[in-house]
Amino acid sequence: MFDALIRFVREQYATNDFIPLHAPVFPGREREYVFDTLESTFVSSVGAYVDRFEQDMARYTGSPRAVATVNGTAALHVALLLAGVQPGELVVTQSLTFVATCNAIAYCHAEPVFVDVDRATLGMSPRALEQWLDENAELDAEGLCRTRADGRVVRACVPMHTFGHPADLDGLLDVCRRWRLVLVEDAAESLGSLYQGRHTGTFGQLGTQSFNGNKIITTGGGGMVLTDEVLGARAKHLTTTAKKPHPYEFFHDEVGFNYRLPNLNAALGCAQLEHIEDFVAAKRLLAQRYAEQLEGSALHFVREPEGCRSNYWLNAVICDSREQRDALLAATNDAGVMTRPIWQLMNRLPGFAHCRRGDLSTAEWLEARVVNLPSSVLPASAA
Ligand SMILES: *Cc1c(COP(=O)(O)O)cnc(C)c1O
Repeated sequence: MFDALIRFVREQYATNDFIPLHAPVFPGREREYVFDTLESTFVSSVGAYVDRFEQDMARYTGSPRAVATVNGTAALHVALLLAGVQPGELVVTQSLTFVATCNAIAYCHAEPVFVDVDRATLGMSPRALEQWLDENAELDAEGLCRTRADGRVVRACVPMHTFGHPADLDGLLDVCRRWRLVLVEDAAESLGSLYQGRHTGTFGQLGTQSFNGNKIITTGGGGMVLTDEVLGARAKHLTTTAKKPHPYEFFHDEVGFNYRLPNLNAALGCAQLEHIEDFVAAKRLLAQRYAEQLEGSALHFVREPEGCRSNYWLNAVICDSREQRDALLAATNDAGVMTRPIWQLMNRLPGFAHCRRGDLSTAEWLEARVVNLPSSVLPASAA
């Protein structure tokens, strides 16, 4: 039943071998820059590539400041701390996300609250966010958002740009403004995606990216905090063991983190970032071909939301039913074409089953139906 799709994927990648969901490509100066760190011996916590990667990323995204970290989860952890999230507080996020979003909230000894996503964006629904707040929260005399039942502070809101498709940022910014929530964008999947012409990750007070091996660009492992100059300086300090600059003395003015990105990884990132627009173009071309191939079939191809440029990090289809989803997963994986179901909802995981949540009917509907298709940058267009 899915033979035509399997044949189509094989044609795109021109191979009869196993086709992964997402593999990195290194078409440019990756080897040169990485080798340069070996030659210089500056592979670790000192070296020029970290500064350069941060400056290149700030310039590319239009963010005032970009601070590199060891991975995307660490970036999110620090971003939440800088958003002022304190132990015992609540942070609203979407139930349909990768577990890292919720882990970072838990590292702050805070608790996620799960709200629904929109069908059109796969990202947090501003209406679902507002509804949960209307039903459960109020602004206290100091203007802090608190739950009515038990007075818990609701500090921040973390939407995620699922598979690279921008969430409804205008709607979310409006609700966050009215409820005094700090908006922190989990932009781990959406480097290169634009919302009304502006980069995702630069709308909230803080935004975070990931450069894990499966993301649109990779540093092996890595992440970035996007924010303003003031919070950026704080992010740099916190992620580098809170050490006061001094030629030889060790003084750390608070408990900090060793979250700095090694120079070796940053070198790879500098070379990868030189290709980001080529990668986005290649992925958008592949997405266009999937859309045409699947037109009129039983599988509904997920397209970018209106007013957005998606990086189409992972291509996705919505199946008619869970049974059809299971059949698609079995047929493709048996044929050596890797596909994967979307994540199980966070409220089903043992670590987060106790958390508060609103109505999750769209997330549940999508959870049973969404499948990711192979999405690596096409070989010919990578150069
Ligand atoms: C990849 C990813 C992260 C961060 O992952 P790391 O592996 O820690 O870099 C965070 N959130 C989402 C939604 C992701 O997809």
